[in-house]
Amino acid sequence: MSDRVAIYPGSFDPPTNGHIDIVERSARLFDRVVIGVGRNLSKKTLFDADQRVALMREACKSCRNVDVTTFDKLQVTFAKEVGATFIIRGIRALSDFEFEFEMGNMNRKLAPGIEMVYLMTAPDYLFLSASRVKELVAFGAPVDGLVPPNVAKALQAHMGQGGLRTGATESND
Ligand code: ADP
Repeated sequence: MSDRVAIYPGSFDPPTNGHIDIVERSARLFDRVVIGVGRNLSKKTLFDADQRVALMREACKSCRNVDVTTFDKLQVTFAKEVGATFIIRGIRALSDFEFEFEMGNMNRKLAPGIEMVYLMTAPDYLFLSASRVKELVAFGAPVDGLVPPNVAKALQAHMGQGGLRTGATESND
C-alpha cells in the first residue's frame, strides 16, 4: 500500500501549542505530514513566512515524519504537489466548524480525491488562537503553556523591538 500523506495548512502566525498538538496527533495517523505555512501576501503577519517555517520546524523537530514548507496556492493544489491525499484541519468552536465546512466543501468540489480530516482540539487549547497569543504578548501577559518555548522566545524578541502592537490584531485566526 502506498504511503498515506497529509498536509496541514495554516498561517501559524505564530505556531501555538494547539497547532503542535494537532501536528503530533496527525504524525501518528499518517506516514508523512507536510505542514504548509501560508505565504499569503495580502494577509499582514507578525512573522514572515520563512520565520514561521523556522519556528514550526524547531517546535516539531521530534516528529520524524513531519516536514514544514511554505505554500502560496490553493490547499488542494499544494496537496497534489506534495503527493498528499488528505488535508488536516483543527476544529475548536462552532465558528471554526462553519468556516471549515464551507472550505471543505469547496475543496471536495475542486479535488474529489482529496479527503479532509478534522481533528478536534484538545480541551486545554479550546480557546487558544494565534491572534489571542499576540494580544497577550502585546500587553505583557505571560504565554507559558500556550506556545512552544522557541516561539515564546521569538515573541519576546519581537516585543523588545517594539514590533508587536502593530501586528497583534491583523490576523483573524
Ligand atoms: P488559518 O489562518 O487558516 O485559520 P491557523 O494558523 O489559524 O490557520 O490554523 C491552522 C489550523 O489549525 C486550522 O485548521 C485551525 O482551525 C487549527 N487551529 C488553530 N488553533 C488551534 C487550536 N488551539 N486547537 C486546534 N486546532 C487549532
